[in-house]
Amino acid sequence: MTPRSFDSLVVGAGISGLAAARALAEAGQSVALLEAQARVGGRIHTCHEGTEIIELGAEFVHGRAPELWQLLSEAKLPTYERTGDLLDSAERNPEIAEPVSQQQNGHAEFADASDPLEQLKSFAGPDCSFATWVESLHLPADQQESQLGYIEGFNAADAREASALALGRQQRAEDEIEGDRLWRLTQGYDQLPAFVGHRFEAAGGTLILGCTIVSIAWSPGRVELTAASGQIFRARRAIVTLPLGVLQAGSVSFQPPPADLLAAAYRMRMGQVFRTTMVFRHRLWPASMSFLIARATAPSVWWTAYPVASLTLTAWSGGPRALPLLALTPEEQTARLTEALAEVLSLEPAEVEQALVSTHTHPWHSDPYSLGAYSWVPVGGLDASQLLSQPVEDTLFFAGEHTDITGHWGTVHAALRSGLRAAAQVLAV
Ligand SMILES: Cc1cc2nc3c(=O)[nH]c(=O)nc-3n(C[C@H](O)[C@H](O)[C@H](O)COP(=O)(O)OP(=O)(O)OC[C@H]3O[C@@H](n4cnc5c(N)ncnc54)[C@H](O)[C@@H]3O)c2cc1C
Repeated sequence: MTPRSFDSLVVGAGISGLAAARALAEAGQSVALLEAQARVGGRIHTCHEGTEIIELGAEFVHGRAPELWQLLSEAKLPTYERTGDLLDSAERNPEIAEPVSQQQNGHAEFADASDPLEQLKSFAGPDCSFATWVESLHLPADQQESQLGYIEGFNAADAREASALALGRQQRAEDEIEGDRLWRLTQGYDQLPAFVGHRFEAAGGTLILGCTIVSIAWSPGRVELTAASGQIFRARRAIVTLPLGVLQAGSVSFQPPPADLLAAAYRMRMGQVFRTTMVFRHRLWPASMSFLIARATAPSVWWTAYPVASLTLTAWSGGPRALPLLALTPEEQTARLTEALAEVLSLEPAEVEQALVSTHTHPWHSDPYSLGAYSWVPVGGLDASQLLSQPVEDTLFFAGEHTDITGHWGTVHAALRSGLRAAAQVLAV
């Protein structure tokens, strides 16, 4: 096969790769965007069932990150803000009656005792794990458990390893963008990567789907990528948006390995989540329910699409608490969800079973193109994403949510921002 040559190559058509590739193409470069899967979007992956919009990956727009809102506005994609009641099934077999709060807080989906997180914002170190930091507050046991549950659920992280300094930084970063507010894309999050993909192609870019890159050979000013099919792509520069899990697995070989950069990648962690959306024939939950916290059961968080009328309910567990659920077969998962939901809604399992139409999930932990849900920072890893964002000999550039340097790791806006940053770095060479 004849090698194909471009000015720049971009590996991965998630939102970071799409944004980077579009910026380069619009700046007049010839660009190939190489994506292993048959679709763009990566961890933005929407399933449309009838009138239901079911997000298998990213679902919420967290706060008002300017890059993301500018893009949503350019693409004219309608959004709606999440409102409704946050319910807490504090005890087993609760009576679900009184809302804990009118849900306005993005964190509220994972915990309600958020005050210690205010203190975390001013934590100056020395660094320690979030679990150690919480212990130092001498909170009552239930509040301590609630804090650990929140961090693990929201960050998909292990609280015994997660960096308290990084989490403090994240809290401050969220404050800057009203990160406690949540929106959804009315027509599905997949509309956003689709839009950027169209803009990229309209600017003359070449999008190649089903193209799994297996090796990246490079020397200063020259990159050669080899696909599993044997096809070779050449350029002066490449932006690599492989997810952290893929980088760490070593399934794409670098010749020579950018040693400092890969060492930095190993100082971050890829988090795991269990997320399943159930579609029902009729509503089983209180009409204005937004989130339901169910600490005593697994999964521990449920949410609706409120205020939009929908017969979907999403179950979520993050971090170590996700692992036992991920180890179950699909049938066992459905049985577990049915039982757990019956318990938290005080219904008979048969009632839930009869109302259930379908369940939808994606195994991000075993998907070879993600190998996890999103990144988090362990103790000692606070500077890792800064190192990951540095150009290697002005030839290899890395982007993706794990390379974010603004404290928003693990989000769509972090990924988008990183793609724009990498494109600017390429254009500045
Ligand atoms: C279940 C779940 C829920 C989430 N919820 C939210 C949320 O509510 N809000 C939010 O802001 N964020 C959320 N996120 C995080 C968000 O989805 C990600 O941070 C963001 O989409 C990552 O974008 P990216 O471009 O960095 O990576 P990706 O989207 O993973 O893109 C990387 C691309 O590289 C491709 N690729 C991998 N290997 C190869 C290869 N060898 N060759 C070629 N291509 C390859 C992949 O197929 C993929 O398309 C969630 C993620 C998950 C998994």
